[in-house]
Amino acid sequence: MHGAVGEEVAAEAGLTLASTVIALKGVGPRMVERLERLHIRRVEDLLFHLPSHYQDRSRIAPIGSLRPGDEVAIQGEILLTEIKYGRRRMLLSRLSDGTGAITLRFFNFSHMQQQGLAAGVWLRCFGEVRKGPATLEMAHPEYQRIDPAAPLAVGEHLTPVYPATEGVRQLTLRALVEQALNLLSGESASTGGLMELLPETVLSKFHLPPLAEAVAYIHRPPVDADVRILREGAHAMQKRLIFEELLAHQLSLRLMRERKRRHAAPRLDAPGRLRAALMEKLPFTLTGAQERVIAELCADMARDAPMQRLVQGDVGSGKTVVAAAAALQAVESGFQTVIMAPTELLAEQHHANFNAWLEPLGIRVAWLSGKSKGRMRREALEAIAGGVAQVVVGTHALFQDDVVFARPGLVIIDEQHRFGVHQRLALREKGRQGGRFPHQLIMTATPIPRTLMMSAYADLDSSIIDELPPGRQPVTTVVISDQRRDAVLQRVRHACGAGRQAYWVCTLIEESEALQCQAAAETAQLLSEALPELSIALVHGRLKADEKARVMAAFKAGETDLLVATTVIEVGVDVPKASLMIIENAERLGLAQLHQLRGRVGRGAEQSTCVLMYRGPLSERGRARLAALRETSDGFEIARRDLELRGPGEVLGTRQAGALRFRVADLLRDQALLPQVAETARLLLERYPERVKPIIRRWLGRRTRYTAV
Ligand code: ADP
Ligand code: MG
Repeated sequence: MHGAVGEEVAAEAGLTLASTVIALKGVGPRMVERLERLHIRRVEDLLFHLPSHYQDRSRIAPIGSLRPGDEVAIQGEILLTEIKYGRRRMLLSRLSDGTGAITLRFFNFSHMQQQGLAAGVWLRCFGEVRKGPATLEMAHPEYQRIDPAAPLAVGEHLTPVYPATEGVRQLTLRALVEQALNLLSGESASTGGLMELLPETVLSKFHLPPLAEAVAYIHRPPVDADVRILREGAHAMQKRLIFEELLAHQLSLRLMRERKRRHAAPRLDAPGRLRAALMEKLPFTLTGAQERVIAELCADMARDAPMQRLVQGDVGSGKTVVAAAAALQAVESGFQTVIMAPTELLAEQHHANFNAWLEPLGIRVAWLSGKSKGRMRREALEAIAGGVAQVVVGTHALFQDDVVFARPGLVIIDEQHRFGVHQRLALREKGRQGGRFPHQLIMTATPIPRTLMMSAYADLDSSIIDELPPGRQPVTTVVISDQRRDAVLQRVRHACGAGRQAYWVCTLIEESEALQCQAAAETAQLLSEALPELSIALVHGRLKADEKARVMAAFKAGETDLLVATTVIEVGVDVPKASLMIIENAERLGLAQLHQLRGRVGRGAEQSTCVLMYRGPLSERGRARLAALRETSDGFEIARRDLELRGPGEVLGTRQAGALRFRVADLLRDQALLPQVAETARLLLERYPERVKPIIRRWLGRRTRYTAV
């Protein structure tokens, strides 16, 4: 297959895998640009542009045996070709091989093409069989004329189908890859061959074939290859590539982490007197998990390298007090703590909590949001810059240029999922002072499945609060169609009549916040009419800060029975007496988000209920998702199912979606490889550091988003 002539030509031209693609036959400046869109710049990149699937053109199927859906090669004689006028003009050819006949259908065709398909001509075609109005058909098959007396040889391997882009046809890609493969069979790297970057010990330990062999196989599997196994990505040759790709991602994250480790950070190693003072004042004792995580944080912060730690804890597991303990550690060591929350509402809640906990200890807590204006803002900025404020709570507003921190020692970011990795890094930069970086603590209530943790967050250490405070009542979850809205209203009337409080959450697909708020206002109006005896309030993202605070305070004080809200209450709202939650159009939300919302109830002693109201009919997946919520209240289990139902890209949202774009690997499918990959990453970093960058470059190319940050 790899002709000797081709090699000679290549060698003469000085073509190697390191050459840019312009050196290839058939590639001009225009094609260079198009290939660039596929991230193909060098000849070697072609080898890593892997087929998405294969076609078997090695067998010619008898036409009489075809069934709709088959993707096959056939050959036969044209019986008749004619133009038909339906809604569009089209060309129909009838092809027969003696076992049966099939119709070839072309919508766009030239006069030449029509003539070429004259009766009596023999064709070989490849395409997908489908059911036509009268007979089986192939629409726009690939075809070529053949001489029935001298049959064409069939392929000796399966035909790869590559991810393509406009202006780059499959045939072009196949021809270009072929040229690259010819180099592969060259003797060594000096003749342009492919560098094996995995040490021999790794290959033998994990039974991995050499890279060049795997690459050749994947591009040109023999006709007897097991297509089913290839389709599942389970072939040993695919494993070899998957392994290396996962390794490349893992290595680049580790490099980033190492690089950060080399930075300096202030040692926050005070004895912990303030922390002890807070604990004494709390109306509860910490859970074992909270104690453990606080100890982990304090140990990290006592070092002179910046902490990068993710604290995961289910809704209601008590992350806020853990954050407060960490903040006190910084304050007692003489540094500021900056706490940033993704929404105004959550930031306000934190501010209220921190104020209540820390002011009695003589600590100044400052507040800064986008809505802080005028004198308030000026005073806050002064307190922050002068170091009078030891703890600063706020929103994105903390990023603004005129915000200058006096002595930042710890940055706490709540609800990681709402912030992009870039914002996290930007805040870190902002806290940089005299070559020292603040410690960073990231808190998330959306547990991240281990699989994702190991791949998408390998740059962070992680702590888990895996225990809820005692006395929490599990929330009963009910799934109900919105056809039965009356029954739901009855339930609200009943609960509030008995002195309980309830949330009514409006979820809307409208992208615009204004429309969402408007719709929530309408819902509140309708509910007031249906339930005139109840005191109903409304909270949404467009309310003024003080207005919002007033509504929340009234609800917290028990003055309001029913709080109608948009999903702004998803994070952070803490009203223990609320024990009923209705979520409208629950089918529109992700599992994690529903779990978050549900976590707003079940915080008091009362038995709580969450009603998931859906608009039918539900899809299979929609049904499975709501069922998952009914069946479990374990955030980690929910995260796992969410990952299964939606895949890593969607679960992580846009923040990491790009980072998780793999060529051959699939985190879910290949998770069993991750421990081996992690082991290999460690080995390479220790013993073969010179191979690390080449592996990253090979798979991530210039997509250096990990390494750049
Ligand atoms: P989340 O982890 O969802 O942010 P919070 O920090 O808001 O949880 O805590 C939820 C509620 O539990 C708060 O009212 C908090 O005061 C309370 N809480 C936290 N830790 C404990 C504990 N160890 N025992 C009892 N209640 C606790
Ligand atoms: Mg919280």
